[in-house]
Amino acid sequence: MAAKLKLATTSLAGCFGCHMSFLDIDERIMQLVELVEFDRSPLTDIKNCSPCDIGLIEGGVCNADNVHVLREFRNNCRILVAVGACAINGGLPAMRNSIPLEDCLRESYVNCIGIENPQIPNDPELPLLLNQVHPIHEVVRIDYSLPGCPPSADVFWKFLTDLIEGHEPSLDYDLVYYD
Ligand code: SF4
Repeated sequence: MAAKLKLATTSLAGCFGCHMSFLDIDERIMQLVELVEFDRSPLTDIKNCSPCDIGLIEGGVCNADNVHVLREFRNNCRILVAVGACAINGGLPAMRNSIPLEDCLRESYVNCIGIENPQIPNDPELPLLLNQVHPIHEVVRIDYSLPGCPPSADVFWKFLTDLIEGHEPSLDYDLVYYD
């Protein structure tokens, strides 16, 4: 039997909706786990990415930790995939790009109604926010993109089964949408 492909996944500035849509493959996940082994992922307890065949990235890049994780995935994954609108073009979170970061933070932590002891969090444990939200291709090289917010379960299934069977992945027209 051929060795299983290794698959890692992560969520950067994402909402976990892309992961939920992935899980919408429902009972097909039983077929999938016969063919792939999950590495670092919100679905496992593995803390660091080891060398993998495929890395699925949900979410854009909004803070220093996102940059670190994205580079870890690029360094370890033979095929790196931008999953969903946020990873591809920043998505809805990139709407903050038209507002200065300082104004966003003040509105959330200082001016917001009902806040006690207003202050912008500054614990060094917290990852610093970037001034803007970026699509992941602005930080590392990307091999494929799966469009949609989120991509449907059938998109994940078609893409992964194409790769597992050794085909160049292709999505039928009715699987390609951006909303
Ligand atoms: S693309 Fe949509 S579903 Fe996926 S992380 Fe972004 S907002 Fe969530």
